Amino acid sequence: MSELRFDVVKNAFKKKALPVEAPEARPTEYFGELVFNRDKMQKYLDANTYNALINCIEGGTALDRSTADKVATGMKTWAMEHGVTHITHWFQPLTEGTAEKHDSFIEYDQKTSITETFDGRSLIQQEPDASSFPNGGIRATFEARGYTAWDPTSPVFIQDDTLCIPTVFIAYTGEALDYKTPLKRALKAVNDAAVSVCQLFDPNVKKVYSYLGWEQEYFLVDEDLYAARPDLMLTGRTLMGHASSKNQQLDDHYFGAIPSRVAAFMRELEFAGFRLGIPLKTRHNEVAPNQFELAPIYGETNLSNDQNQLIMNEMNTIARKHGFVVLLHEKPFNGINGSGKHNNWSLGTDTGVGLLSPGKDAKSNLQFVTFFVNVLAAVQKHNALLKASIASATNAHRLGANEAPPAIISAFLGRTMTEVLHKLLELPSDTPIEIAGKKGAKVGLVEIPEIFIDNTDRNRTSPFAFTGNRFEFRAIGSSANCAGAMTTLNAAVADQLVQFKADVDKELAKGKALNVAIMDTLKPIIASILDTVCFDGNGYSEEWKMEAQRRGLDTETSVPEMIKKFTSPDSVAMFKRTGVYSEKELAARNEVKWETYTKKVQIEARVMGRMAINHIIPAALAYKNKLLSNIQMTKDVFPEEYQTMAATEISTVKTITKYIADLTSMVDDMVNARKAANKIEDEYQKACAYHDIAESLFAIRRPIDKLEEIVDNDLWPLPKYRELLFIN
Ligand code: ADP
Ligand code: MG
Repeated sequence: MSELRFDVVKNAFKKKALPVEAPEARPTEYFGELVFNRDKMQKYLDANTYNALINCIEGGTALDRSTADKVATGMKTWAMEHGVTHITHWFQPLTEGTAEKHDSFIEYDQKTSITETFDGRSLIQQEPDASSFPNGGIRATFEARGYTAWDPTSPVFIQDDTLCIPTVFIAYTGEALDYKTPLKRALKAVNDAAVSVCQLFDPNVKKVYSYLGWEQEYFLVDEDLYAARPDLMLTGRTLMGHASSKNQQLDDHYFGAIPSRVAAFMRELEFAGFRLGIPLKTRHNEVAPNQFELAPIYGETNLSNDQNQLIMNEMNTIARKHGFVVLLHEKPFNGINGSGKHNNWSLGTDTGVGLLSPGKDAKSNLQFVTFFVNVLAAVQKHNALLKASIASATNAHRLGANEAPPAIISAFLGRTMTEVLHKLLELPSDTPIEIAGKKGAKVGLVEIPEIFIDNTDRNRTSPFAFTGNRFEFRAIGSSANCAGAMTTLNAAVADQLVQFKADVDKELAKGKALNVAIMDTLKPIIASILDTVCFDGNGYSEEWKMEAQRRGLDTETSVPEMIKKFTSPDSVAMFKRTGVYSEKELAARNEVKWETYTKKVQIEARVMGRMAINHIIPAALAYKNKLLSNIQMTKDVFPEEYQTMAATEISTVKTITKYIADLTSMVDDMVNARKAANKIEDEYQKACAYHDIAESLFAIRRPIDKLEEIVDNDLWPLPKYRELLFIN
C-alpha cells in the first residue's frame, strides 16, 4: 500500500501540463456560440415568433402553443447544426448540482423508420420521474408527480450532443421543488417593491434588476492522489491528515504564478465558459496552496446563478481531462483556508441607474442612501434567516472558524458611509447629500465621494460588506447553489422596501416635501442599524460575540438550529407577504435540509470509522510490530541493557498502543451514537443528534493525526497533506 502511495505521489509530481486546444478565433467570435441568445433567436425565428418570445421574456406574457412550436422548431434547426441529437430539461433540485434526463429527438413510426422532432410541448413541459428528488414530504403527502416547466428568462444552451432547456421544477400541487422557482418569485418581489420606491424619484423606472456577481473558490487535487483518499472520494473533504510542515504561512500562493497544469485547466474552462456565454473575467491563485478562484462579470441574478451551476459542472469535467479533481467542498483540509462563494449583489434600474452606487446630484444620492439603508435594515431584521440561508453541513466548517465568515451576520460599511449615516442623523432632514469636492468643503454638509476611494478598505472578516457599488455576501459556501442565499436576501429587501414605501406615503400624507418625508422615514432606521447590524471591527473576536448578543444579533452556531429560523413566525410571515415561499414549502424545505445534514454527517462518520479500522490501525500495528521485533532483537543480543538501548522504541510502542486504544473506543462510541441517532424519527431531532456526532469527528481525528506524526512514513497508507496540497 505504501509503495502504491509513493508511486502515486511520484507519478502525480511528474505530470506535465496537457496541451490546450485553443480556438483560433478571438473570444468575441465564439462567445455565446452554444447559447440560443437574441442573435440566434433573430436568425432562427420569424419576426412574429421572435417578438412574442421577447415579450414573454421581458414582459412575462404567456406563449401560445403554436408560437412555442415555432420556437422549438427554430431551436431544433440551430441545435442540429451543432450535432445535437437529444434534449433535456435542465433543473436545480434541492440536491447539490443540477439534474437532467435526456430524450433523443427521435419518433418511431412503429414500422421501420424514425424522424427527428422537437415541438413546443416538449419545450415547455416534461414530467421527469421525480420521486427520488428531495421534497420534504410534499409529494408523498399530496401528489406523486412533479413537472419541469421552461423558464424562458434563462437562455437555452447546448452541452455536448444535448439541447438543455433551463426549467423550474414544481409539484402538481404547485409547490416549488427546486431552487429556481423561489428565486424567480423573490426577483419578482424585489422588482415590484423597488420599482415603487424608485418611482418616488423617477417615474420613468419600470423595472429593477437584481444583479449577482459570484466569485467561486475551489481546490484542485491530482486525481491519482484523490483516488488514494477514500475520505475525499466519498465526502469531498479529508477527515484526517496531519498539518503539512509548510502550508499557507508564507502567503506565497495568493496571486502567485499559476502552475502550468492548472493554467491549462483554467484556459480550457474559460473557452468552455465563453462558448456558453459566461463572461469569465478573473482567475487567480487563492490563499491556500492548490486553492484557486474564478469570477465572471456580474449579470442578472437568475441568469448568473444558472451560469454558476453550469460552470461548476464544467469544472468537474474539464478538471478530469487535466488529471485533476476539483474540490468544491467548503473545507477540504483542516488548518488551512476553506472555500466560499462571495455573492456580489446589487439592484439596478432599466434606466441604467445602479441603486447601490452614489449618484450625480442630491436627489440621486438620496435614492442611493434610501436603498443602502433599506438593504441594511433587511439584513438587520433577518440576520438569523440570512445565516440559515447559507447554513449546511459542509459550510459549517467555515462558519466561526478563524476565517471568513464568522457565524454572526453583521454588515461592514466602511468609514465613509458610516460617517455619512451619522451626519444624516444629526442634520435637518432637508440637508442635501452632495458629492464630495464638487461644492468645495462646506462644513456640516453630508458628502459622498463620487467614487469610493476607500472601497478597497475591505474588512475581510465581515460576512456582508459594502464595496462601493454593491454588497458582498461572503458567507455562501463554495458548493452551494447561490439561489438559496439570493432568494432570502432579495425577499428580505423586497419586504423592507414595501414597508418603507408605506411609511413614506404616511409622511407624504402629512404634507411633507418628498426629500423630508424620505429622510424622516430613514432616520429611525439609520439609528437602529447603526446600533445593531453595522459593525466594522474584527468579526472573530470573543468581545464581538458578546457584543453581538447584546445587540440582539443571532449567535447560534449549530446548523440544525440555524435552519429552524426558516419556519419561525416572522420568517413565515415575510415569505408569505412577498409570495416567495408558502408555509408548507418552508416546512418541507427544512425537512430536506435536516435530512441532508444528517446524511452528510452519517456518511462522514461511516467513512471515518472504516478508515480508522481498515487503514490507520493496521498501519499503526505494522509499525508497532516492527518496533517490537526491534526491541526483541535488542533484548536477544543485549539482554542486560536492552531497556536502556531500546528506550525510544519501547516508549513509542506504548504511545502507539494508547492511541490505538483511544481510537478504537472513540469509534465504538461514535458507532453507538449513530445507532441511537438513526432510531430518531423527527428530522430536526435527528439532525441535532448528528450535530453532536459531527463534533465527535474532530476528536477522532486527533489520535489519527498523532499517529501519522510518529508512524514510519513508508507504512502510511494515505497521501499526506504535503502531497495533496503541493503537487500540481
Ligand atoms: P474582489 O475579489 O476584489 O471582491 P472580483 O473582481 O474578484 O473582486 O469580483 C467582484 C465581482 O463583483 C465580479 O463578479 C464583478 O462583476 C461583481 N460586481 C461588480 N460590480 C457589481 C455590481 N454593481 N453588482 C453586482 N456585482 C458586481
Ligand atoms: Mg470579492
